[in-house]
Amino acid sequence: MGARPGRPAAPGSVAAAAGAARTLRRWLAGFAALLLAPLLVRLAIGGPAWAQLVDLTGLFALSALVGTFVLVSRLRMLSRAAGITTLIGAHRALGVFSAASVLAHVAVVVAADRRNLVLLGWVDAPPRARAAVGATLALAGVVALGVYRSRLRDYELWRWAHALLAVAAVVLSALHVWLIGGLVQHPVMRWVLAGMAVALVAALLNRWYGAGSRSSEHVVREVRPESDTVCTVVLDPVGRPLRFAPGQFAWLRLARRGEEHPFTIASSAAGPGVSFTVRSTGDFGTALRGLPPGAPVWIDGPYGSCSVDLLPQPGAGAVMVAAGVGITPMMSMLRTLADRRDRRPLLLVRAAGEPGELFFRAELAQLSGRLDLTVLEVVRRPPPDWPGAAGSVDAPLLAAVLPPPAHRAGVDYFVCGSPGFVDGVVGSLAELGVPEHRVHTEQF
Ligand SMILES: Cc1cc2nc3c(=O)[nH]c(=O)nc-3n(C[C@H](O)[C@H](O)[C@H](O)COP(=O)(O)OP(=O)(O)OC[C@H]3O[C@@H](n4cnc5c(N)ncnc54)[C@H](O)[C@@H]3O)c2cc1C
Repeated sequence: MGARPGRPAAPGSVAAAAGAARTLRRWLAGFAALLLAPLLVRLAIGGPAWAQLVDLTGLFALSALVGTFVLVSRLRMLSRAAGITTLIGAHRALGVFSAASVLAHVAVVVAADRRNLVLLGWVDAPPRARAAVGATLALAGVVALGVYRSRLRDYELWRWAHALLAVAAVVLSALHVWLIGGLVQHPVMRWVLAGMAVALVAALLNRWYGAGSRSSEHVVREVRPESDTVCTVVLDPVGRPLRFAPGQFAWLRLARRGEEHPFTIASSAAGPGVSFTVRSTGDFGTALRGLPPGAPVWIDGPYGSCSVDLLPQPGAGAVMVAAGVGITPMMSMLRTLADRRDRRPLLLVRAAGEPGELFFRAELAQLSGRLDLTVLEVVRRPPPDWPGAAGSVDAPLLAAVLPPPAHRAGVDYFVCGSPGFVDGVVGSLAELGVPEHRVHTEQF
């Protein structure tokens, strides 16, 4: 693939990318205000150093905890601007900061006066201390669930336990602040705390009640098998068609308020209807595969930023690297670019365990005729007569097919697959001199 200049990005996508960058700046300012306002107001109030330190650690723990809720509250604009991987990463980081601040808060309370140790014992402790102990235990539970997530087989159980413990932690923390009383009585701090409460309630409402009401109803047109374990579910809108940027994902539900799972939209953003290509090995994927024509499906979306249309400064071409069903965002982008007659040079490196798992082969051959597209198939366990590339998608393999080093910074790289695959490819790209800001990822 050469890095020659291609057709410029569609004007709509440039405007969308600029809007996403503006949105991100606004949200970053909002988060800075959420995290820093309570601290600045507390510093302005003044008082003995120990008392300030106690309040500062406690307030930071609370505002960081509220921030974790806002980050995963399904704000489409935020998800489009920052991307789901960044949001989940920031959510985890704020959770860890909050837990660390709680530990610091407890340590400072005890260091300020050893007699405060009694506050940690449940029986003799006053209600404000019991609320704090309850909040700390709930937060410890959230952290433990985060650490052991991969070991818990039942994702729905994990999700509910995580949500309930997090809500318990924030409600008990707020109760602790309320029962202490001092901060709530200060006229400015009262408004700051009220602002945090509003942010929390708005985040919870948007996440839990908004998902049902903003979902758009679709009906199944057909379910097409792509391989033994993968199928494509084609949906038609009941009302307005879904508008999305190619590469974005949505949450699917089989009942308006039922269980939901995220799937990348695989169809062209320029065509009618919408399709999802799904690995049907688990419960939900199997249920999708068995849907008859006409069955309703609710879509909450689109979300995410892994898209050629949402790049702040689109490059002269794109390299797409996908494993297994991680090809779905690439298919949406390739189908869309073909419908728009885009002539940017494109390289698709797709990995699979066996040749039988390389679904979409015929369509990709056809797309190669409509696009300036090169497809490289890499099979991990090839049969003896496999003519193509074999093994892993690693730095030596990528070095052989990427644009020459001088042009590598001029194209965008999209990587999608399991977390292990994405980490490996991102590491290889860094090794080959690809700048971080050109790499866009989605993990399944
Ligand atoms: C942004 C994004 C886009 C995705 N796009 C696709 C796609 O296009 N095609 C595809 O086949 N898969 C996609 N996935 C993965 C898909 O969401 C999970 O495989 C699916 O939820 C599994 O559900 P299950 O009941 O069929 O399988 P299970 O066997 O119950 O789950 C398998 C694993 O999937 C994960 N998972 C389960 N439920 C959820 C959930 N509600 N949210 C997040 N993770 C969950 C858990 O880690 C679980 O261990 C995507 C995931 C994400 C995060």
